[in-house]
Amino acid sequence: MAGIYFHIPFCRRICAYCDFYKNADLRLMEQTLAAMEREVVMRRNFLRGEAVRTIYFGGGTPSLVPTEWIARAIELCRARFDCSQLEEVTLEANPDDLSTEYLAGLRAAGVNRLSIGIQSFDDEVLRTMNRRHDAAAAVRAVETARAVGFDNITIDLIYGLPFGPKDALTRSLVQAVALDVEHISAYHLTIEPNTRFGRMAARGELTPVPDEESEHQYLQVHNHLTAAGYDHYEISNFAKEGFRSRHNSSYWHSQRYLGIGPAAHSFDGEQRVWAVASVAEYLNGVDAAECFESEILTATDRYNEVVMTALRCREGIDLVELREKFGAVRAEYFCAEAERFVASGVLSNDGKRVAMCPERWLVCDSVIADLFVED
Ligand code: SF4
Repeated sequence: MAGIYFHIPFCRRICAYCDFYKNADLRLMEQTLAAMEREVVMRRNFLRGEAVRTIYFGGGTPSLVPTEWIARAIELCRARFDCSQLEEVTLEANPDDLSTEYLAGLRAAGVNRLSIGIQSFDDEVLRTMNRRHDAAAAVRAVETARAVGFDNITIDLIYGLPFGPKDALTRSLVQAVALDVEHISAYHLTIEPNTRFGRMAARGELTPVPDEESEHQYLQVHNHLTAAGYDHYEISNFAKEGFRSRHNSSYWHSQRYLGIGPAAHSFDGEQRVWAVASVAEYLNGVDAAECFESEILTATDRYNEVVMTALRCREGIDLVELREKFGAVRAEYFCAEAERFVASGVLSNDGKRVAMCPERWLVCDSVIADLFVED
C-alpha cells in the first residue's frame, strides 16, 4: 500500500526553530497549487498501480490553502490512482487558521485526520518560538475541530527547550491529555544553523539543554503520556489504540510514496526522487520534469534505512521480513551484530523481532550506527 504527500511550502510567519523548506511570500501560492495539480497528472504512474492508503497535506502550512483546492486535490488522486482502499487523509494545520467554516470545508473535502501544530500550551514559549497562536487559540482549535466532527486529531509538542517557565512542559502535557486527542507527536528541539535559534546560538544567546536534561524530559514525556493511555509506538509518536499515523508508518516501513510540490520527496521502492527546494525553480521546471533529482538506493542503503527506522519503532525489526527483503546472509549478519546489544540488555530478541525499549530510543543513534553496513 502506498501514500501520496502534498507539500504546501508557504507560511505566514517563520517559526524561530524551523528548518523545513517554506516561503513567507504567499504571492506564488495559487500558481504553485495549479502546478502541483499538473504534477499529480504527470506522475500518475509513479506508484506503479499500487493502492493508495493515505494522503497527507504537509508543509509549510496547508491550512492556508482554500478547502476547495484540498477537495480538488483529493478528487484528482481518486481519478488518477487506485484509491479504493484510501483510509486516512491528514492535513497539517496552524491553530489560528481553524475556524468552524474552514474545518467544515475540510471535512466535506474528505480530510478525516487533523494534525494541529500546537508545540506548547505556554504563551511565553510560543512567543519565543515566534508562533502565530497563543495557548488559548490552541485549545479552541482542538475544541472547534471536535465540534465539527473530527474524531482523529493529532497535535505536535516540542520539548527540550532552553527557555520558558520551568513547568511549561508539564503544563503542556497535562493540557494535551485533558484535550483527549487521539495522537501526540513530541519532538526534542534541534537548533539548526539556518534558523533564528541557530543564529542566536551562534551569537551565544541560546544554549541547547544539557544531555541529562534532554533525557529527563524525554522520559517525562514518555511516562506522562503512557500513564495516560497512549502507546509510545515510535520515538516521537504516541497514539491511543487504533490511532497510529498510517501515513508515517508507511515511511517507517519503506513503502512507496509519491511526494508532490516543491521540496517533496518520493520513493518508488528502489529510487528516491525529490523536487527542488525553491518555489520559483519548481514553477520553471515542473512541466518539463526538470526540477527533480533522484538516486537509486542500493540494497545496502535500503538495509541501513530499515535498521534505522525500524529500531525507532516499538515493533522493531521483523526478522522474517528482513530475510525476505535482504536475504539470509544479511539477516544472519544482523542477528550476529545485534547479539552483543541483546546481551547487554539494550535490544531484545524474541526470535521473531529485534527491538529496543522506548526508554532507550533517545540514545539509540550510536547503537543503530553500529548495526549499519557498508558496501
Ligand atoms: S514550523 Fe510550520 S508554521 Fe512554522 S515556519 Fe515551519 S513549516 Fe511554517
